[in-house]
Amino acid sequence: MIDTFRHKGLRRKLVAELSEKGISDKNVLAAIEKVPRHYYMDNVFLPRFAYADQAFQIGAGQTISQPYTVAFQSSLLEIKKGDKVLEIGTGSGYQTAVLLELGAKVFSIERQKLLYENAKVLLNELNYKPKLFYGDGYLGLPTFAPFDKALVTAGAPYIPVPLKEQLKIGGVLVIPVGEGDSQTMVTVKKLSEKEYEQKEHGEFRFVPLLEDRAQNR
Ligand code: SAH
Repeated sequence: MIDTFRHKGLRRKLVAELSEKGISDKNVLAAIEKVPRHYYMDNVFLPRFAYADQAFQIGAGQTISQPYTVAFQSSLLEIKKGDKVLEIGTGSGYQTAVLLELGAKVFSIERQKLLYENAKVLLNELNYKPKLFYGDGYLGLPTFAPFDKALVTAGAPYIPVPLKEQLKIGGVLVIPVGEGDSQTMVTVKKLSEKEYEQKEHGEFRFVPLLEDRAQNR
């Protein structure tokens, strides 16, 4: 895999575009500028697609999220170095890499075996060290909880209780909620063992968060 001056130039343009669209978190923009998105897509010869602000097919009927969406969700997470982050929907591993560049320790779950395997090989090759799991994200990862932050990268019909419960007090879950064509971006902040504060942040489009395919391991 190579990251040419052309790729880097296209990435700078993408970052400028995201910034124009309202992404202002400097750390997030720096992470997007750093991670070669074309590594996470099937055809490395398509830099135009890799650095256009759009979602793209990655196989198994799934998509790599639109850069704006990755940047928006990453901004809502307000990652601090060393944060333990639970990610649901590893997919291509692109969002995982962005979180790692932000200094997070990432625990990511994927329910499609092929995508899980591909992301594992790729992220390892790129020297990233996330903990990747093949399983059902609805359950979270009780063994590794609690988390500072949690992120769902697929559209959920409702907010799964385990994901809220597995947050530390003060922790935040970012999750697109809704079935059908569009989802509302929601943040859930854990205020105490029993209290949560929920906020909405506009409409986005995601592939669905699906239930009951794999056992967590
Ligand atoms: N973050 C990814 C986006 C992938 S799209 C990226 O940057 O490429 C959402 C992903 O969620 C898909 O890979 C899909 O297979 C996965 N997914 C859907 N339902 C899931 C579930 N219940 N548990 C874990 N992953 C799930």
